[in-house]
Amino acid sequence: MRVQAAKRLRVVIVGGGTAGWMMASGLAKLLPADAYDLTLIESDEIGTVGVGEATLPHIKLFNDRLGIDEAEFMRATGATIKLGIEFVGWNQPTDRYIHPFGVFGEPWAGVDFQHHWARARLSGIDAGSLQDYSFAVALCRAGLFDHPVVDTQSIRSSFSYAYHFDAGLYAEFLRTWSNARGVTRVEGRILDVARDGESGHVTRLTLASGDGIEGDFFVDCSGFRSLLVGGAMQVPWCDWSHWLPCDRALAVPSGSVTPLTPYTRATARKAGWTWRIPLQHRIGNGYVFSSRWCGEEEARETLLSALDGPGLAEPRLLRFAAGRRARAWEGNCVAAGLSSGFLEPLESTSIFLIQAAMFDLVGLMPRPGGGIDPRLSTEFNRLFEIHYDRVRDFLILHYMANSRHGEPLWDHVRSMEMPDSLMHKLDLFRESAAAPDYKLGLFSRDSWLSVFEGQGVMPGAYARLADHLPLPELERRLSDLRGRIRDGLSGMPTHADFIAGHCAAP
Ligand code: FAD
Repeated sequence: MRVQAAKRLRVVIVGGGTAGWMMASGLAKLLPADAYDLTLIESDEIGTVGVGEATLPHIKLFNDRLGIDEAEFMRATGATIKLGIEFVGWNQPTDRYIHPFGVFGEPWAGVDFQHHWARARLSGIDAGSLQDYSFAVALCRAGLFDHPVVDTQSIRSSFSYAYHFDAGLYAEFLRTWSNARGVTRVEGRILDVARDGESGHVTRLTLASGDGIEGDFFVDCSGFRSLLVGGAMQVPWCDWSHWLPCDRALAVPSGSVTPLTPYTRATARKAGWTWRIPLQHRIGNGYVFSSRWCGEEEARETLLSALDGPGLAEPRLLRFAAGRRARAWEGNCVAAGLSSGFLEPLESTSIFLIQAAMFDLVGLMPRPGGGIDPRLSTEFNRLFEIHYDRVRDFLILHYMANSRHGEPLWDHVRSMEMPDSLMHKLDLFRESAAAPDYKLGLFSRDSWLSVFEGQGVMPGAYARLADHLPLPELERRLSDLRGRIRDGLSGMPTHADFIAGHCAAP
C-alpha cells in the first residue's frame, strides 16, 4: 500500500531585512526540507531600515548553528569583534565603565563572586571595582583579542564575544546562503493582504505586479510597518515610551581611525546618547535622542561634533517608539524583528530578539496538515513577553540610575515611576548583592552587575555564606585574581592584528 505524502506547509516570510533573512536561513536549516516550502517577499523599492551594526554573543550560536564559517562571514560583512560596551558619562558626566561579555571573578566556596567582592568592600578591604575582575574588561582596555580557550581553568576562557558588522551585508550574506538552500525569493511590493472570512487567517498577498502569493503560515518581518500582525491582524501596540523616551536617531558613517577598538562606545548626551561602532572599513555613529528635549538641528550638531573621523555621508534620521506588540503570534502570522517591537538601540538587543523568535518558532512550528493549535501561539507569546520585558527593565536601569542633575531628560528619567519588576531587582541587589540569573533570554547576572555598579547602585549586604572564607584568604584571592587577569593578557594579539590574520583572503 502506498502512503500518501503529507501536504507541505507553505511558509511565507514578508520582508528581507535582517529579520527576514535570519528567519529564512534559520527555518531553512532547522525545519525538515520535505515538509515546508519557504518563500520570502522583499521590496527593493521600500528597502530596509539600514541600521543595526552591533550584536550580542548569541549571534555566534546562530551562525554556528547554520554552519557558517566565521572568517568567511567576517570578510563578507566587514565585521570586527565586540567584547562589550563602554558607557561614558551615564552616571556622572565624567564616569566610564564597560559592560563586558564575560564573567566577573569566579565563585568561591560555592558563593557567587559579587558576594565576596561586596563583603571585601564592606569589611574595609581595598577590593577596587568589579571591573578589575573581568578579563573581557582588561581585553577592551588593552585593545587585544584572541578566541577564548576551552580550558575552563584558564582566565582566557572567562569571556565570550560578539561582532560589529554591516547589517545590510549580513542580510545579503544570509540571502545567498538561504537561496542556496531552497528559499524562494520574490521581489515586489505587497499592496493587499487577504484574510479568510471565517478563521481570520491571512491567505494571500497581492503584489503591485498583480501576482498573488498564497500561504498557510506567514512570518511578518516587514519592519516598522508591521504589515500583517500590526496591520491586517490589528494586534495592539504596548507603548513604553514613558519609560524609554528616546524616539529619534540620526545615523552617519565615518572613516576608520586607529586603534581598532574591540567594543561599542555609548556616550550619554544632553538628550540621549551617541553610539560609536567600529567596523573593518568604517565607523558607524549615531545619536539616539528624545524629540521632547532636542531638535533635529541640535542633534545633528551633537552627532557631527562627536565623530573622530571624517563623516562619509549626510546624517540620516530614523523615527521610532519603544514598545512591543501585545502578541507576536496572532492567527497564522508571527511577527519578528521591528514588526514585533523595538526597545531602542541601547545594548543592541534587536538582532538577538530576532534570533530568539526564530528558535522559539522552530520549536513550536505547526506541522503540515495539522492546523494551528492555539496552545502553540500562547506559548510563543509567553516567551516573547518574557524576552521583551526583561530587556526593557535592563535598559531602563541605564537611564533611571543617573546622577546627571540639571539636565531635563536625565532629571525626568531619574524621577519617573519604574516598573515593579525593576524596582524589585534594584531592592534585592541593594539589600543582598543578588542579581537576576535567568536561564532564558537576556541579560546574564554579570551584565546586571556591571550596570548596577557602573550606575552607582551598590550593595549594602551580601550572602551570609560568603562569611565562611577567612578575610585574609579573601584578600589574597582577590589580589591573585587581579594578577591572573594581568598575566593572561601577555602575548595576546591586538584586535587589528587578529582581524588582519583571521580575515586574510584564503
Ligand atoms: P527592515 O530592515 O525595515 O526590513 C523590512 C523589510 O520588509 C524590507 O525588506 C522591506 O522591503 C520589506 N517590506 C516592508 N513593507 C513591504 C511591502 N509592503 N511589500 C514588500 N516588502 C515590504 N539592532 C541590533 O541588534 N543592534 C544595533 O546596533 C541596532 N541599532 C539600531 C539603531 C537604530 C537607530 C534602529 C532604528 C534600529 C537598530 N537596531 C539594532 C534594530 C535593527 O536595525 C533591526 O532589528 C534589524 O535591522 C531588523 O530590521 P527588520 O528586518 O525587522 O526591518
